[in-house]
Amino acid sequence: MSFTLHGLPVSSGIAIGRAHLVSHTSLEVVHYVLPKHLVAEEVARLEAALQATRDELTALRANRPQQAAAEFDAFLDLHLMILADEHISHAALEMVKNEHCNAEWALKSQMDALVTQFEAFDDAYLRERKTDVIQVVERILKILGGHPGHVPPEPQHEGETVLVAHDVSPADLIQLKPHQFCAILTDLGGATSHTAIVARGLNTPCVVGLHHARELIKDRDMLIVDGEQGVVIVDPDKNMLAEYRLRQSEWALERQKLKRLKTARANTLDGTRIELQANIEMPGDVAQVLENGAAGVGLFRSEFLFLNRDDLPGEEEQFEAYRAVLEGMGELPVTIRTYDLGADKQLKGATRVASNPALGLRAIRLCLAEPKLFRAQLRALFRASVYGNLKILVPMLSGASEIIQTLQMIATVKQELLADDIPCKPDVPIGGMIEIPAAALALGVFIKKLDFLSIGTNDLIQYTLAIDRTDEEVSHLYDPLHPAVLELLAHVIGSANKANVPVSVCGEMAGELAYTRLLLGLGLRQFSMHPAQLLATKQRVLTSNLADITPLAQKILRADDPLKIRELLDRLNA
Ligand code: PEP
Ligand code: MG
Repeated sequence: MSFTLHGLPVSSGIAIGRAHLVSHTSLEVVHYVLPKHLVAEEVARLEAALQATRDELTALRANRPQQAAAEFDAFLDLHLMILADEHISHAALEMVKNEHCNAEWALKSQMDALVTQFEAFDDAYLRERKTDVIQVVERILKILGGHPGHVPPEPQHEGETVLVAHDVSPADLIQLKPHQFCAILTDLGGATSHTAIVARGLNTPCVVGLHHARELIKDRDMLIVDGEQGVVIVDPDKNMLAEYRLRQSEWALERQKLKRLKTARANTLDGTRIELQANIEMPGDVAQVLENGAAGVGLFRSEFLFLNRDDLPGEEEQFEAYRAVLEGMGELPVTIRTYDLGADKQLKGATRVASNPALGLRAIRLCLAEPKLFRAQLRALFRASVYGNLKILVPMLSGASEIIQTLQMIATVKQELLADDIPCKPDVPIGGMIEIPAAALALGVFIKKLDFLSIGTNDLIQYTLAIDRTDEEVSHLYDPLHPAVLELLAHVIGSANKANVPVSVCGEMAGELAYTRLLLGLGLRQFSMHPAQLLATKQRVLTSNLADITPLAQKILRADDPLKIRELLDRLNA
């Protein structure tokens, strides 16, 4: 009997194939106390499992497939780092020695403690790293249980195969041969999970957060996976199959056609030039940016340089990273955001967990509280400025005093560099992110003191609606079309345009086709998004006429009934 499952679409495309279920360790481990004379043996068993896991990960890294991105190395390094972390291996060994418990129980206890710490992080990316901790522990547990590791075995089926897992680690995913699986489905995971990132990199349709897919789908079930809508049809009938096969070829054709837009100018039908830039996390992402014909980097989330490591990147390392991006992009603008690290989590030695991390010592607040760290980044940025077209973007500014302090620090760094005859561009534009409602409302000082603005809709929506953007339980309330959000967007875009201060949107909203015309109609002329969304957005721009869009967008702005807003948006997108 046919049925449908809904999840979170993270990598688009349509796939049709037979299910291949991958088992996982439930992590439900038993607890027992060992007699004293067996403790040394248990310690040795755990040590051997830790070493075997280390060997397995090292071998994976050494044999990574050619087509796998360098990002995969980072994932494996992260897993090796977690394995070496004293909170896992050392603490588990100590627990066996001191409490005489079994190795599995010690590992699980240490993992639970670490996961709880990760869950308190306000940064979605960091919070999702708890999945990496679980995956590493799963790997050790499998070895303890005598299994060879949880790499998906080669499917024996003929034809296309869909991987169905409770969760799958990036380390396992990278072992997949090209096209070994035509789609990936998982019960767990979020949009920024490593699994999602890897699936995107492999260009494989992927739906995560399906909750019970692994329970409901049986091995060899026929599946249709719609990675665009996050829909999985199990056991489809003939008509459904025919329909989706057609959609599949249409989709492939569409992607092919989109490639032709790479060098086209992003002009609306009435000839208005729209700037479509890309968001990146690491210097290695530049290739994808260029492949998709971006007009520049609109947001480089520089804090990613600080993640997955024990130490902090120094001035020199940061300088090289920024230089690589600037040189890679040639003449095109590169907007580097100063690090948006959450509170104390990533800094070595920090132990305090903020009671409300999203409202805590984050981004520019942290920079101003840790001037030494911030100064190193600013020096690296200005030193790199001579290698391209740099703009510096400051996150989470709330008002005048933070702007003034930031600009003062920048001025001091510039003076120091000039005094030491270190080459730098003194006129690098400095911009501010508008992602706190206070900033959007008290915009005057931002317009007066800064060279450009970039609206971070992800946080602006979170703070305006008081909804944790990472909390699944309130995700249905996370609404970019809420009248308060639209009012703030219209106000910021309109005021900046009036003052001739460049303004862009770099939150997820910028890359969602449903909102392209709405944002254009509100006066937005600069968008920054994931490189994979660029060409489809360009196509939407090319088929949009500002004269038609603007009055409808204004109507949406005046509407307060959600149904009416939806109806008007549909008209706008028709
Ligand atoms: C945003 O808040 O919209 C944004 C672009 O920044 P981040 O998602 O990194 O918080
Ligand atoms: Mg933000």
